[in-house]
Amino acid sequence: MSLTQEIKDFALDLGYHDVGVTTADAFPWYAEELQSRYSSYNYLIESPLKPLEGTNPKGVMPEAKSIICTVYDYSREGFPAELVGTIGRLYQSRSYNQSSSRINGARRQLFIDYLQKRGMQTMYGPEFNVPERLASARAGVTTYGRNNFAYAKGPGSFIILMAFTVDAELEYGSPTIEAPCPKDCRLCVDACPTGALEPFRLEPKKCIAYNTFMTQDNFRPHTSSHIPPEIRVEMGSWIHGCDLCQEACPRNRTRLKVMEAWPASSFLNRIAEQFDLRKVLLLTDEYFETVLRPVMYNYIRHKRYFQRNAAIALGNSGDRSHVPYLAQALEHSDPLVRGYAAWGLGRLGGQDARTALEKARPVETDEKASQEIEAALAIAA
Ligand code: SF4
Ligand code: SF4
Repeated sequence: MSLTQEIKDFALDLGYHDVGVTTADAFPWYAEELQSRYSSYNYLIESPLKPLEGTNPKGVMPEAKSIICTVYDYSREGFPAELVGTIGRLYQSRSYNQSSSRINGARRQLFIDYLQKRGMQTMYGPEFNVPERLASARAGVTTYGRNNFAYAKGPGSFIILMAFTVDAELEYGSPTIEAPCPKDCRLCVDACPTGALEPFRLEPKKCIAYNTFMTQDNFRPHTSSHIPPEIRVEMGSWIHGCDLCQEACPRNRTRLKVMEAWPASSFLNRIAEQFDLRKVLLLTDEYFETVLRPVMYNYIRHKRYFQRNAAIALGNSGDRSHVPYLAQALEHSDPLVRGYAAWGLGRLGGQDARTALEKARPVETDEKASQEIEAALAIAA
């Protein structure tokens, strides 16, 4: 058996859905695209993830010969109805960038250990970030969708890609750099509430997913905690991620039906039973650690961003029974939470919301929170 086949068999035995191999040649198109869209991707380009380095593997490791691309299918379980529409399925699956002390991180670590034991010098993320969608299409294991997601046969776009650059010469797959979307289909583009999508082009800063977790002060270069009001309105009930352009896609239809039919794990059902946006808003340390962190550990480290997102989601709910909770959050010690609670109250409107905002107006000491209160009073009907 060839080394390539042994590596593939090992990856499949670990539970990856598919694995392919491509050369370690550069990805000049991706480097040009990133640089030409600097204002959209500055938060990434200047981050420790160094995506431009990843476009030229041999620039970092001159001995690099091959990129091994694994495809993990995270749609192997059902997802509770209470969480769908609020937390992206990817995050519910706890399979994205897991630590190696958990099963999904241990799988990646076992694969790295295997490659290294076979004598291969190996580079991988997050220290070294190859453009994984391009690499896996070049390796022949995924295709593209016009929504910019990678698709694999079976799980559709409900996959996680990982790339491992090694110094071994391996057997390379035939590229599948194509998008087998139905002619003229634009369902994903039309489903995007913020206009973040054009075919094969995403404006990340308009994307709901970006706004739920990248908008943190000093999280990445050029990021801040501010979410533009026009995006807040379109965030609906999402507090971490957004699945709308994947749900709209006919190429995902079969897998979505399967996921809906499968029962959720008892782990996710436990989270779902305890999940309550009002508790996310008035977040205690214990609720943060036991209900939020187990599934949303990837990006947000501080409670305040979940509280902000919950204030937006409650404001978008149209349910004025949430007013007392937002009014309570208007007295929170963190001005970010107060400001977004004000926005939520303004969005819900009604006499009780106005009363809470008018009570907070003269005692608010933070400039940004004061601005949010004024803007909320202007829209609260
Ligand atoms: S994830 Fe949501 S907001 Fe982002 S492009 Fe897709 S539909 Fe639009
Ligand atoms: S919704 Fe249509 S255009 Fe968009 S990715 Fe799916 S098949 Fe392609």
